[in-house]
Amino acid sequence: MKKSGMLLLAALSAWLLCGCSIVVPKPPPQNTVTQVSTIDALLSGVYDGSVTLRQLGVFGNTGIGTFDALDGEMVMFDGRIYQVKADGKVYRPALEEKTPFAAVVDFKADRVVVVNQPCSFKDFEKLIDAEFPDMNMMSAIVVKGSFDYVKTRSVPRQSRPYPPLTEVVKNQPEFELRNLDGYIVGFRLPAYVKGINVPGYHLHFICSEFISGGHILDFSMRKGSVGVDICDRFYMILPDAKTGFSDADLSKDRSQELMKAER
Ligand SMILES: [Zn+2]
Repeated sequence: MKKSGMLLLAALSAWLLCGCSIVVPKPPPQNTVTQVSTIDALLSGVYDGSVTLRQLGVFGNTGIGTFDALDGEMVMFDGRIYQVKADGKVYRPALEEKTPFAAVVDFKADRVVVVNQPCSFKDFEKLIDAEFPDMNMMSAIVVKGSFDYVKTRSVPRQSRPYPPLTEVVKNQPEFELRNLDGYIVGFRLPAYVKGINVPGYHLHFICSEFISGGHILDFSMRKGSVGVDICDRFYMILPDAKTGFSDADLSKDRSQELMKAER
C-alpha cells in the first residue's frame, strides 16, 4: 500500500476508534493560562468538579484551584497536585478526582528575580509590580523561598445544597506556619478578568516537605527567588450543566463577595 493510503487508513481507524465521543485534550500553545469554570460560579456555589485532575495535567504543570465539593486548596507544582484539606494536612489526590475551579500553565519563567531582604506580602506585590509593570498581561508566579511566617487557610468539604463561598469562609480553618522553606504558586491577573478569575494576586503555598500549605492570607519571606512567566493566551473550560453551572446567576457583580472570600 502506498504511504498516502496507509495514512488515510490510520486516520480512518483512529476516527472509528474514537467513536467521536472520547475527547482527548491537546496541550495548549506556550504561555497559555488554562482555566476551569469561573470565579463567580465558584462564589455562587458551583462546587461540583467538572474536569479530572488527569485532564487538568494536560494543560500545565503549575497552578492553583480547588477540588470537587470544595474539598481543600489545590497547589499544582512541578506537575504534581497537592490537596491541602481543612485539617491542614497535605494529600495527593487520585487523578480521577475532579476540580470545579482551577487555573494552570506549563510554567517556564521568563525571568527570575532574587529577593535578598525580608519582604511582606505587600512588599512582594510592590516588588513584582515594579519588576513586571505590564499589568495587562497574565503572570504566573512560582517562588522558592525561606519564610519567617506564612498564614494560610483552607476550605472544608461541602455537601449539597452548597452554600455560597462567602458563607463557607466564615468558618475557614487558618494556619500560621513559621520558619520554613517552601513554594508559592499563583497568578497576578489583570483587572479585566473580574468575574472570571481573581484580579491581582492570588497565591497558594506548599512547604518544601509537602506537609503544610494552603491559600495565602499573609506572609513574611526572608529570601527567595521569584520566577514569573508572562502569559498572553487564555483558554477556558466551562463546566457541564449537571454541575449547576448553567443555572448559576453569573450576571451580578460579585467583587465584594470575592474580597470576603479571598483575603
Ligand atoms: Zn486560593
